[in-house]
Amino acid sequence: MHKLDRRKQELFGLGDELFVHPELGYKEYTNKRILTEYFEKNGLKVEELGFRTAFRVSIGSGYPHIGLIAELDAIPTLGHPFANKDDNNAAHSCGHSTQCAIMAYTLVNFKDVLKKGRVTLYFTPAEEFTDIAFRKQLIKKKEINYIGGKVNMLTAGQFDDEDLLIHCHTMGQGKYHFSLNTSLSGFIYKEITFKGVASHAAVAPYNGVNALNAFVLFDNALNMLRETFKEEDFIRIHGMIAEGGQTVNSIPARVVYECYVRSMNQDALKKTAKRVDDAARYCAKAIGADVSIRSTPGYLPMHQSRLINDVIRKNMLKYCSIEEIHDDEVSMAAGDIGDVSCFKPTVQFGYSGFAGNCHGKDLCIVDKDRAYLEPAKVIYDTALYLSQHQEYVDRIIKEFKPSLTKEEYLEYLK
Ligand SMILES: [Zn+2]
Repeated sequence: MHKLDRRKQELFGLGDELFVHPELGYKEYTNKRILTEYFEKNGLKVEELGFRTAFRVSIGSGYPHIGLIAELDAIPTLGHPFANKDDNNAAHSCGHSTQCAIMAYTLVNFKDVLKKGRVTLYFTPAEEFTDIAFRKQLIKKKEINYIGGKVNMLTAGQFDDEDLLIHCHTMGQGKYHFSLNTSLSGFIYKEITFKGVASHAAVAPYNGVNALNAFVLFDNALNMLRETFKEEDFIRIHGMIAEGGQTVNSIPARVVYECYVRSMNQDALKKTAKRVDDAARYCAKAIGADVSIRSTPGYLPMHQSRLINDVIRKNMLKYCSIEEIHDDEVSMAAGDIGDVSCFKPTVQFGYSGFAGNCHGKDLCIVDKDRAYLEPAKVIYDTALYLSQHQEYVDRIIKEFKPSLTKEEYLEYLK
């Protein structure tokens, strides 16, 4: 029997409670309170990290310093059974609540086995790049500096002391038991505002300039650009109309389109982003409209530490066969864990036990052993191994090459 089997009902109970209390980024106060109470009940103190809801819990001291990361936030999901109607239909349709339960339970159980080194568990707000207007208000009020939670924490130097970082995320429904060495894309967020001229839509449409038509032209141009994308760059452009017009009986004078431009390749991402801007400009011009474009850096592509994943794979194989592990998965998802992975040896592995679509109204937990207990054991066993094998951690650190400097990062975020 694994040590973590003993109090597994406590783990499931904690996870269930978090799952039904979804909150959007920087508003995760209930989740924070539930977790804080859990740690205090187990004799551990939490440390505030600013940015409203960020906090950490640390045990032990010295080398190696292993960092664990759990994400607190939910995402707007129309029709999810536990959607928070008071907060934009926030729901845990990305399963972040399970990460928090897994990591908290692991750390509490790790307390009395850690002989060497230190383990720090970070709870990070606002991984989902959403609720932008609210976050821009927070930036204005200087409560945060960037949209993404870990981006704020990274630039404040909060992961500087860790030697390596371990993170996990649900895979949603699928045929695999676990995933490993998954790549994540980078992205740029754009808010494109087409500006026309309003006029009476029936009496004098010829006096107006239709901003919606400018958008439609641009959307066609986007589709025509798609055939120029190279497969190996894994480019995606996806968006939504945040404002489609002002009133039906007037020619739309303003249309706002929000989108992500994603790619696995940072150069291709930059080039594609420029082509999107050009398409918006020239399509608007073609019908006499104006356009303004606001681009915000999203997250950077993920770099996985293969050496850490070699240990994780061994621990996964206690619960499934090698064929049931999706190794070297290429995922177009993105996360601010990608930014962290540019500076420290980092991993994010995937776990199962869910039915339904990630970000869909039907995402639910169907197998608690797989959704909670097994990933907790994998992290527990991996952290135990690393804390007892300093020479292996030396190697992980030695083989790691940061992909940019902090100065370059700050420049990119501007
Ligand atoms: Zn997620």
